[in-house]
Amino acid sequence: MTLHERSESLGGAAASWLAGGMLPPFCEAESADASIVAPGLAAIDWWESRVPGVMRNGTLVVASSRDAGEIARFGRRTSGAQPLDAEGIEALEPDLAGRFRQGLHFAAEAHLDPRRALTALAERFERLGGTIRFGSDVTPEAVGGDVVIDCRGIAANAPSLRSVRGEMLILRSDEIRLSRPVRLLHPRMPVYVVPRAGGLFMVGATMIESEASGGPTLRAAVELMNAAYALHPAFAEAEVIDMKAGRRPAFPDNLPRVTRGGRIVSVNGLFRHGFLLAPDCAEKAAERVFGPRTREEIAA
Ligand SMILES: Cc1cc2nc3c(=O)[nH]c(=O)nc-3n(C[C@H](O)[C@H](O)[C@H](O)COP(=O)(O)OP(=O)(O)OC[C@H]3O[C@@H](n4cnc5c(N)ncnc54)[C@H](O)[C@@H]3O)c2cc1C
Repeated sequence: MTLHERSESLGGAAASWLAGGMLPPFCEAESADASIVAPGLAAIDWWESRVPGVMRNGTLVVASSRDAGEIARFGRRTSGAQPLDAEGIEALEPDLAGRFRQGLHFAAEAHLDPRRALTALAERFERLGGTIRFGSDVTPEAVGGDVVIDCRGIAANAPSLRSVRGEMLILRSDEIRLSRPVRLLHPRMPVYVVPRAGGLFMVGATMIESEASGGPTLRAAVELMNAAYALHPAFAEAEVIDMKAGRRPAFPDNLPRVTRGGRIVSVNGLFRHGFLLAPDCAEKAAERVFGPRTREEIAA
């Protein structure tokens, strides 16, 4: 099996490289179709059994006292959360002590580091006998073989596929410790901070309906930095390690599609849920190729 990747190395311009790596089915159901919850929960086990560094510490949702109404609204629109007061927040994240009075903890959620996960997946693919050809810019029609899986993301240019731009930062700070993604609710621009190993924090992300493929705008950078600072002032001294913009591929209903036409199976439209829903989409793609599998085959 050959994987063609047009970038010269892992990552490149892929949205997957820029993602937060959150696996938060309950939080995402606040604005997404409820059908994402079950496959999203199953994805946590899937990732944990295949890549290192999956953290099952849940998600913490907070808001400044000025935006406290946002917590109640978010709680009403989601399930799976335990309400927290200031002590509860401090018990989960001691470095946020005294900063927020109300929060929600979605204990069943998880997160991973996308760059570590993609590296591990690529190694696993090669160990299982696959070949990765970097710098190989192809169309599915031009690729030989019995079946071709087209997962080019936004570059597939599929009918009704649109780009939802997401700008993100990676910061490094030795002064702050977080154990789980923290979502800071705000009526205009909700932001999250996802901790990674080595004092790194991913701060994301804008949601802009735009086909633009350039780097982040000054406005986005300022808003993301302000939000990190609002979460904890020690972020003011953090080093900016990376600042990029990715394009999330989305269909009009913001749900992914796995379809087959002749020998081409298309997997696209993963929107905000590339990591959350990739295991389910991969399962569906395998069904389109091999037909339905038994439970035992799926587990293997
Ligand atoms: C800032 C940001 C934060 C996000 N956070 C999360 C999150 O926390 N959790 C989550 O689940 N999802 C998150 N997402 C969404 C997730 O990243 C996307 O849904 C996912 O990356 C889409 O995967 P994809 O494989 O379809 O596209 P991509 O990741 O863009 O991958 C497409 C690949 O195809 C390659 N390619 C394109 N054209 C060709 C060609 N002609 N020949 C060969 N190769 C080609 C590209 O180089 C690329 O490597 C986030 C996205 C962004 C932008």
